[in-house]
Amino acid sequence: MNVDRLPATRVRLLDPYGQAMIPVPYRVVHRHEETADTVTVRLEPVGDGLDAWAPGQFTMVYAFGVGEIPISISGGSGPVIQHTVRAVGAVSRAICDAPVGSILGLRGPFGRGWPDRPPEGDVIVLAGGIGLAPLRPVILAGLREPGRLSVLIGARTPADLIFTAEYDQWRAAGARVLVTVDRADATWTGHVGVVTTLLSQVPVAPSGTTRPAPTGYICGPEIMMRLGADALVAAGVPPHRIWVSLERTMHCGIALCGHCQLGPILVCRDGPVVDAGNAARLLQHREL
Ligand SMILES: Cc1cc2nc3c(=O)[nH]c(=O)nc-3n(C[C@H](O)[C@H](O)[C@H](O)COP(=O)(O)OP(=O)(O)OC[C@H]3O[C@@H](n4cnc5c(N)ncnc54)[C@H](O)[C@@H]3O)c2cc1C
Repeated sequence: MNVDRLPATRVRLLDPYGQAMIPVPYRVVHRHEETADTVTVRLEPVGDGLDAWAPGQFTMVYAFGVGEIPISISGGSGPVIQHTVRAVGAVSRAICDAPVGSILGLRGPFGRGWPDRPPEGDVIVLAGGIGLAPLRPVILAGLREPGRLSVLIGARTPADLIFTAEYDQWRAAGARVLVTVDRADATWTGHVGVVTTLLSQVPVAPSGTTRPAPTGYICGPEIMMRLGADALVAAGVPPHRIWVSLERTMHCGIALCGHCQLGPILVCRDGPVVDAGNAARLLQHREL
């Protein structure tokens, strides 16, 4: 059989490992500078695109000639995939610098994303810095049921906040959106303090009441996720209903190379999203 003549999706099904290692070309159709070091790129497949993605999944993004890194999907619909990337090194810088019209390679979507929110109970999203990117699809899905969703956003400074143009839209759609920064500047009139301090403004059903328990989704620096999970538990959210997204160096994305091993799991396959109880155990293992 000549696999070159088959659509990409069928080829991937016939040879899941081989094809999953081949980047699929996507064109940058839009780029938006969120902050001085963070860019959101919208990508459209040149031919057949990747399979459908779920919130919390990631792709391996290849900047040709530079390298490939895991990046969460921050949005998109149909064949379009959106990534929000902070430039911290060579590859992330090359993706941020990719001009409209240029081509990036995508593999995926990979990993276990955020579980669907339960049919009842409030949803609390806790995001730190670039951690808001993988949570954006959860927020957009949550807006379909106004009144259940609280979004707590923290960043180091006002200049580090991403998706700022959307906060008022989320509020208008019925979400409680609270924002804080670690360090204010002269323009900032909002809350100052770590993101967990915003939790006092969110009514959480105390355990033992008849109100359904809330569900928490957290993404940010590791220490923030640990403290965030503790704060949610203290506020009455059961640990098995708190989800965090782990970040570990990874290369293959398909559980072959072992780079992202964390104790008994491979983060690319068994994560990146795990529940808070598992995360607390797993994060005792040092990164390889
Ligand atoms: C599942 C998953 C999803 C991810 N999603 C996103 C995303 O949506 N957006 C995004 O911007 N990043 C995301 N990352 C992180 C991203 O993969 C790394 O920033 C990237 O691998 C860095 O590669 P590089 O070659 O640019 O820099 P490297 O040369 O690998 O690193 C340059 C320097 O930056 C440090 N560094 C690396 N990563 C980080 C980091 N995250 N924060 C601070 N310092 C760092 C390194 O220690 C090194 O000192 C994700 C990671 C994982 C595992």
